[in-house]
Amino acid sequence: MVLEDAFRRPLLDLRISVTDRCNMRCRYCMPREHFDENHEFLPKEDILRFEEIVRIVQALLPHGLRKVRLTGGEPLLRRNLSELVRQLRACSEELDIAITTNGLLLSKHLDALVDAGLSRATISLDALGTDTYQLMGDTEATPAVVLKAIGEAQSIGLPLKINTVIKKDVNENQIIDLVRTFGPRGIPIRFIEYMDVGSTNNWNLDQVVSAYSMRKVLEQEFGSLQAKQPQHASDVARVYSTRDGWKIGFIESITNPFCGDCSRARLSANGSIYTCLFANKGHDVRGILRMDASDEDIARAIQSIWVERKDRYSEERSIQTKNLKVEMSYIGG
Ligand code: SAM
Ligand code: SF4
Ligand code: SF4
Repeated sequence: MVLEDAFRRPLLDLRISVTDRCNMRCRYCMPREHFDENHEFLPKEDILRFEEIVRIVQALLPHGLRKVRLTGGEPLLRRNLSELVRQLRACSEELDIAITTNGLLLSKHLDALVDAGLSRATISLDALGTDTYQLMGDTEATPAVVLKAIGEAQSIGLPLKINTVIKKDVNENQIIDLVRTFGPRGIPIRFIEYMDVGSTNNWNLDQVVSAYSMRKVLEQEFGSLQAKQPQHASDVARVYSTRDGWKIGFIESITNPFCGDCSRARLSANGSIYTCLFANKGHDVRGILRMDASDEDIARAIQSIWVERKDRYSEERSIQTKNLKVEMSYIGG
């Protein structure tokens, strides 16, 4: 039986935050003044063990789950992450197992992840220019490290995508170079409209560059863009192709929301299910897991959360709820 929410949206995709920690401090996600040495990250005992994550996935597989995405925080900070991938792969050969990472530690873990059965990776890279990269990520790391990992991942045949958040007057000038770098290599790039996630990034609409205006800039450079048909109704990116067949996606959470087909649940590192990226509260499942629950009990508990789901935040975006939302680094992007 497929789990359906109040608007008949199935639960197909689970984003699993494996840690709330990160080795970057992107201004739009974990601004350093909030995520400093005084910030209380989750204590180790609260964080789901791999076996607990696997049990949740196992319980959901008979109910239509087809994809998991390991995220965070920075998922590659979680020790021995490839072991989780191996355990998830052992649950199902068909399960799509993806990771979203900033790529800084990818070279080191790439072979182990792929051997364990990782299906694909999305690598976040906001700029090719070192100064802009360091400004966006509030980091001393360089994009060269990420580019090296991308090259290695591509050379061993791991399917890749690039995620780039565009912030007005900060990295708008990187759009063309990024497309020119990844287009010819057959790596789709997705430009993300800067979102009002959490309550620490001081988001305001003036800092958003609409996908529409990004497309205008790209069309001046590369000629007209052709819209592609989505592969699945629940795809988050609207994908276009240049005349050379380079794929460019846009995640238009602000200007063209896509809640209608949203099939994603999020599992925070400490075991709460969030039914929306912009939710202000989660539903604890760790408690049930740690009480000897059967797969059926776990599935029933998640079903009871999912049937009540009426989230369509991006469609209803409202300034009043802004201060109540949970941080993206905590529930997973
Ligand atoms: N640390 C990993 C990374 O950066 O890829 C995974 C977690 S991160 C929260 C997941 C994705 O969310 C990244 O691609 C990041 O760029 C995006 N993201 C974070 N904050 C955002 C915001 N305010 N608006 C749009 N995208 C955001
Ligand atoms: Fe870390 Fe990813 Fe958030 Fe950047 S976007 S601070 S890399 S979790
Ligand atoms: Fe899904 Fe919530 Fe995003 Fe809408 S706002 S697409 S319901 S996560």
